[in-house]
Amino acid sequence: MNLSTPIEEIPRIGPQYQKKLKKLGIKNFKDLLFHFPHRYEDFSNLMTISEVRTNERACIQGEILEIENTKTWRKRMILTQAIIKDDSGSIKVVWFNQPYLINVLKKGDFVCLAGKITFDKYGLYLSNPAYEKIGKYGLKNKNYELIHTGRLVPVYPETEGLSSRWLRSILRPILINLKNKIKDFLPEKIIKKYDFLPLQKALWQIHFPDSLELAKKARERFSFEELFLLQLYILKERLALKKEKAFSIPLNLELVQSFVKSLPFNLTTAQKKCAFQVLKDLEKPRPMNRLLEGDVGSGKTIVAMIAALNVAKAGYQVTLMAPTEILAKQHFKNFNQLLKNFNLKIGLLTGGDCKISGRKNSKKQMLEKLKKGKVDILIGTHALIQEGIKFGELALVILDEQHRFGVEQRAKLVAGGPEGEIKIPHLLSMTATPIPRTLALTLYGDLDLSLLDELPKGRKKIITKIIQPEERKETYQFIREEVKKGRQVFVICPRIEPSTNHQPMANEKKVISWAEVKAVKEEYQRLSKVIFPDLKVGMLHGKMKSEEKEKIMEDFKRRKIDILVSTSVIEVGIDVPNATLMIIEGAERFGLAQLHQFRGRVGRGSNQSFCFLFTDSPAKKTSQRLAALLSSESGFELAEKDLKIRGPGEIFGIRQWGIPDMAMESLRDIFLVEKAKNSAKEILEKDWQLKQHPLLREKLLEFEKKIHLE
Ligand code: ADP
Ligand code: MG
Repeated sequence: MNLSTPIEEIPRIGPQYQKKLKKLGIKNFKDLLFHFPHRYEDFSNLMTISEVRTNERACIQGEILEIENTKTWRKRMILTQAIIKDDSGSIKVVWFNQPYLINVLKKGDFVCLAGKITFDKYGLYLSNPAYEKIGKYGLKNKNYELIHTGRLVPVYPETEGLSSRWLRSILRPILINLKNKIKDFLPEKIIKKYDFLPLQKALWQIHFPDSLELAKKARERFSFEELFLLQLYILKERLALKKEKAFSIPLNLELVQSFVKSLPFNLTTAQKKCAFQVLKDLEKPRPMNRLLEGDVGSGKTIVAMIAALNVAKAGYQVTLMAPTEILAKQHFKNFNQLLKNFNLKIGLLTGGDCKISGRKNSKKQMLEKLKKGKVDILIGTHALIQEGIKFGELALVILDEQHRFGVEQRAKLVAGGPEGEIKIPHLLSMTATPIPRTLALTLYGDLDLSLLDELPKGRKKIITKIIQPEERKETYQFIREEVKKGRQVFVICPRIEPSTNHQPMANEKKVISWAEVKAVKEEYQRLSKVIFPDLKVGMLHGKMKSEEKEKIMEDFKRRKIDILVSTSVIEVGIDVPNATLMIIEGAERFGLAQLHQFRGRVGRGSNQSFCFLFTDSPAKKTSQRLAALLSSESGFELAEKDLKIRGPGEIFGIRQWGIPDMAMESLRDIFLVEKAKNSAKEILEKDWQLKQHPLLREKLLEFEKKIHLE
């Protein structure tokens, strides 16, 4: 028997149970052993029968003097009643509705029982106790190993038909059987350094702990394990990247200055600083890996544009990928407008559109031109990479709101000249999702971070309010008045599916359910027919064709629509300065960071803007969360709060990356994350291919297969 022995070979697991286990993804011994309890029942307080007290929990050991089933007088329920005796006395025991017990527990058996001492119409008795047969020798024998009673008893997450009792009885023999057969892949040095439990002991203690302290220590070790693997994975990729080459793009200061001068506004200090960091990175012959984090409206696009201009004018190609078609088009328009004096060929390639500097092209022509280097800057959606597009000399990839982009994906975009040497494009990744620094470094490795921590001057504070149900009417009146003043309104309806925040924007069709669309449709009907029949109401959702969406957005920008009812498709990047009201329905369904993003859609012009949160959940946690939005204007602060309240998976939509739950949870534990990172670094610096750690290497390979950080 070893860890990979399939469950079919465990004699005590019949076909029924095999099926149930497989449903949980448990295929072999190892999976079973790594199916951890989520809590423990403390039955460790063994006492004599004379010591038990009414209304307290007790664990007793003794002999069954008699046991029988009886029916309650209305015959509704079967009681199993027994008398248990020890040296100090005897007590009645009652089980409800478990008639089969009389086949398991017999007169004369020695048992250990744990439950609550109750006093009611049936008299004084031990109620519905957990039971365990111990044999005569188990009685009072300190070394006798109990698993269901008389100790800290593991309770496993509820799964249909798989009781904790059953799991305990299966797990115990496996643990004994595999003793000394489980090799620890964590290097001994690390275990010693941080005083972690070795694998063998940790497995034992997480299932059958001697104390809660030890259970916690076991859990810590397993959390560390996963964080450590995650860090190894990320850092290894970084190391590999450092060995790659990139085009070194000289900084053309004159060019950059003339561009900055041509802008209708002055750059913020933060924009200048970040642009400089990027330009400096581009000069290096190693691929840049930089994340540009900036709150909504902080002006990330200009920073990207400066970099793109510098690269394109140096004779190389740039591509910018946006999460949605609408955004790609907005970027295309912006780039064309602001770069119009620089004589660049700017292309747009989306599902619905294919043009170069305003002129239509067939897709074939476009691909041809890209390969020949005749397009300087190509703007599109993330789908660009999936289509096998090849550039001639691509030197810079800019990503808008995509959280990760592996080296492999980057390499795919490069055509690779006949001379052979592959140059990996530099990467600038922009996000308005304010990932807390600690988390960013954990997830991205040691990537370089540029922060736009300053908004352009003259922005007014957005007034944010939680609207109680009874204030809805008044609020609608307020909306009407604002519209009369010529302002425009967004109304956001939540999607029904949870936790798909940013990631899947590129292929919305897959993730947006009909139910969600219906929510928007219903609201649209209500607002346009019942509440504001006299105003122009429009609707936008992910199921619409891209031309339709485009038209609606265009109409909204041109003020042909007063109120736009939408799903979160408008979440990122849309820029309509005349919109001053953001209404969010079902606000409790969104994460703080996401709500903050919605709010950032208004307050872009010179008029006072408002953000109203409608909520129908009275839950305290919800209102706490929403209140955070009132008190903070900083996306970073909100993200930190979100991280604390909801955990990382919910906020950043990274649950679908496949990171194990335990690692996700422990991402909150900054100290453990630090330990994992330092350990990974230490090992990789000496032995980056893990040649001296074969077990670890094997484990990492396994881990890499599970995970897909893109
Ligand atoms: P985000 O960081 O959310 O992507 P954008 O780059 O879309 O922000 O910029 C938001 C708006 O602010 C745009 O209309 C842009 O032209 C404008 N903008 C950018 N930088 C400045 C600045 N320094 N001063 C004034 N307006 C700016
Ligand atoms: Mg943007």
